[in-house]
Amino acid sequence: MDQPAPQPSAPASIKIQPIGIIRSCFPEKFGIPRQPGLVPDATGTIELYDWIASDSLEGLEQFSHLWVFFQFHKAVARGWKPRVRPPRLGGNKKVGVFASRSPQRPNFLGHSVVAIQGVDQARGLIHIGGIDLLDGTPVIDIKPYIPYTDSLLHAAEGYAPKPVHHFDILFTPESEQACTKYQSQHDVNLQQLIRQILQQDPRPAYHKDDRTYGMRLWDLNIRFTYTSSTITVEHIHKSPT
Ligand code: SAM
Repeated sequence: MDQPAPQPSAPASIKIQPIGIIRSCFPEKFGIPRQPGLVPDATGTIELYDWIASDSLEGLEQFSHLWVFFQFHKAVARGWKPRVRPPRLGGNKKVGVFASRSPQRPNFLGHSVVAIQGVDQARGLIHIGGIDLLDGTPVIDIKPYIPYTDSLLHAAEGYAPKPVHHFDILFTPESEQACTKYQSQHDVNLQQLIRQILQQDPRPAYHKDDRTYGMRLWDLNIRFTYTSSTITVEHIHKSPT
């Protein structure tokens, strides 16, 4: 009788070394969009580490978008779970972790398509937009996004169709002034960024209370209040350092 061919054995562990780090407008998790592209004005930079030769970026500027593979480093301490509660199911129904995009997964590996806003090859920097990434996120790999193979228009979207929210977003005169001042100092359309973030309803899926919340963007604290379908941005202050 023929003997079965020996199976090649897969390595029990794989060494992966981050190639760089994300610098992002999001210093904490609350407020980060749940997927990339939902908040086009959310920007950041991939800073490649010195051991990555700068000519690794040659040719990247020809592409408009990039896949970023990263580690959900702030999820590691909590460990992973085989079943999770996706926010899209209201936070009270469970699915298998591999039927979700939850950070609490075995290797804490995330991937996001982001817009390339500039490539500074000499300094090993890539400016990116439409991000869903925390400041300090370790980057494992990057690859150009290639529409003909990466975009599948008729794919089944399961329980996660594109979210649609509509809130009226108001700014107090004080918070509007703070946005104008920030824009003149930093060349960032802060008001538009805040609008895009709040329109995504950052509140936890199981706590949609009408109350005041706070989120941070760069070194700013932003306080806003939900009242039914209206959100009022009350205060924008610098965080104490
Ligand atoms: N697009 C990615 C994916 O599908 O793999 C991320 C989706 S995940 C649902 C997005 C959420 O991950 C964000 O809203 C934020 O709360 C969280 N997140 C982003 N960066 C993180 C990090 N470095 N560590 C832990 N959580 C992070």
